[in-house]
Amino acid sequence: MTTFNDGKPYHGSEAVQDGKLTGATDGTDYFYFFCPMCPDKRLLRLLDYEVRAKEEKHPYADHVDVVAPKGFTLAFKLLCDKCLFTDFVKVSNMGWQGGTHKQALAR
Ligand SMILES: [Zn+2]
Repeated sequence: MTTFNDGKPYHGSEAVQDGKLTGATDGTDYFYFFCPMCPDKRLLRLLDYEVRAKEEKHPYADHVDVVAPKGFTLAFKLLCDKCLFTDFVKVSNMGWQGGTHKQALAR
């Protein structure tokens, strides 16, 4: 069995922070990240993932009207086959998700 990032610590670099990593769905409901280094929204491959955190009770359950059944954070390792850019990104519902992207950038 392999471990995510060979068990080494990881964190997304500045190349993916401050709104620099973007993406979109394709013609269906699959979401793709775009390489922040290459032109023309080149697609990144997801090399690996891990469940980085999970909570049986959502951390904001007492502060929202519609409660998520559980809290989770997924981490993904990204690769661009063209320029070999490699990085990490996390998708989570455990931080506050209200407001605007501008407000999220300021947090
Ligand atoms: Zn690239």
